[in-house]
Amino acid sequence: MVQHNSTAEDEYPAAPLDMSAGEFRALGHDLVERIADFIQQIPNRPAARDISPAEARARLGQGGLPEHGTDAGTLLARAAELVFDGCRINGHPKSWGYVIGSPAPIGFLGDFLAAAVNPNLAAWSSAPLPSEIEAQSVRWIADLLGYPTDCGGLLTSGGNMANFIGILAARRARADWDTRREGLAPAAGALRIYASRETHTWLEKGADIFGLGTDAIRWIGTGTDLRMDTAELRTRIAADRAAGEQPFLLVGAAGTVSTGAVDPLPELAAIARENGLWFHVDGCYGAPAIVAPGSPADLKGLREADSLAVDAHKWLFVPLEAGCALVRDRQSLRDTFSFRPPYYHYNVDDGEVMHYHEYGPQNSRGFRALKVWLALQGAGRAGYRAMIAGNLRLAREMHAALAADPQIETATQSLSITTFRYVPEGLDPAQDGERLDALNTALLSRIQGGGEAFLSNAVIDGRFYLRACITNFRTTAADVRALPEIVTRLGREVEKETQR
Ligand SMILES: *Cc1c(COP(=O)(O)O)cnc(C)c1O
Repeated sequence: MVQHNSTAEDEYPAAPLDMSAGEFRALGHDLVERIADFIQQIPNRPAARDISPAEARARLGQGGLPEHGTDAGTLLARAAELVFDGCRINGHPKSWGYVIGSPAPIGFLGDFLAAAVNPNLAAWSSAPLPSEIEAQSVRWIADLLGYPTDCGGLLTSGGNMANFIGILAARRARADWDTRREGLAPAAGALRIYASRETHTWLEKGADIFGLGTDAIRWIGTGTDLRMDTAELRTRIAADRAAGEQPFLLVGAAGTVSTGAVDPLPELAAIARENGLWFHVDGCYGAPAIVAPGSPADLKGLREADSLAVDAHKWLFVPLEAGCALVRDRQSLRDTFSFRPPYYHYNVDDGEVMHYHEYGPQNSRGFRALKVWLALQGAGRAGYRAMIAGNLRLAREMHAALAADPQIETATQSLSITTFRYVPEGLDPAQDGERLDALNTALLSRIQGGGEAFLSNAVIDGRFYLRACITNFRTTAADVRALPEIVTRLGREVEKETQR
């Protein structure tokens, strides 16, 4: 018998990873102290770090796996230093590059607890309370957005996976052969998907990996507002029908990733209905904005979707990874994924509970629901309304501050995304497009490397713009007002260097 209350290494050489409760307590407290200091220092740290691959590898050392184990305290202290200083800080008040939420501390504490208990949310019976926590979280997300709460749904690793579930549920429900048994029957070559050119790249990835091929996607143009052109959509569907193709899926954006454009979702829902198409809404970025007063009225159309993807690790401020797929008809979600092997025996009937492995692609599943459940309750509906409305207000304020600077030209402002470029005196946007592209590309690298603020870019009408997206509860009005000065100061530096 192994003595688990002993600490002498030679007494249980087979379990070097085990830890006594006392040791765990001491190491855990120490790690919490380090994390608390990190949180406190966030506003004074650079938003991003310019680390070369060589430097990153040098910091780790490139030796092989050590033969012998290292003491846990040493390892954790080193790991903390490496990661605190080794990446962009998504929770930094001026972190505005991509759509990624500042993570709620209650969420990362939840992750700690979830990992410690390590339940497997594949089948309900192995984790009854965790499974119900996931079901409740999914219902609450639906409720927050005004989507039917009796829908099917589950948490995923992120938005791509949540959108993929939409494609698969749509194909299962709308293809006129048994897609699960027959796979890509000859008729699969005729399946057509409709989406605006501004759609996030998940669609191409999904069309590819699920065997439809990217040619199955009909890219529909947008107006100057970057929202889908519904006249072109109707014409395209009709033409495909006439040519014997099988339109089956219409994708609408509740906030595009580049500019936050919200497609005319209620009209898309009507077009999908008239044509017998599955209506999927990609709400990964923008869906939560529906709770804020004054957000675009077209967001309400997401409530008519057959399936909806939302990203909890974006505007719901849950730490990575947490996405959510909602499917109006719960049975159709089950029909897409359920296999019941003889080696799974349940004492609880699936009518009554969700055995999650039957509702999504994963088998073993972790307890990501806990951090979602905690964040949802930590903020409540009113808390989300305040944080998201605050972000929308700050984005408008940022736009106004940028527009007021004579050396900055703003392009778009929708939801919490603002796009703009640096246009120094003497350059004309109409004439000097290429020079401005080169200048703003170099400027973006300078901004990203400098760490004062973190921005990304958007390509609009073939031109390069800087892009700021606020999904961040730490951003203040002062942070936003500081941006024009940063842009023009670094812009002048870059301009001087390129003139030399
Ligand atoms: C972020 C995003 C995705 C992809 O989500 P991940 O969580 O990164 O997988 C899809 N669509 C939109 C609109 C997004 O903003």
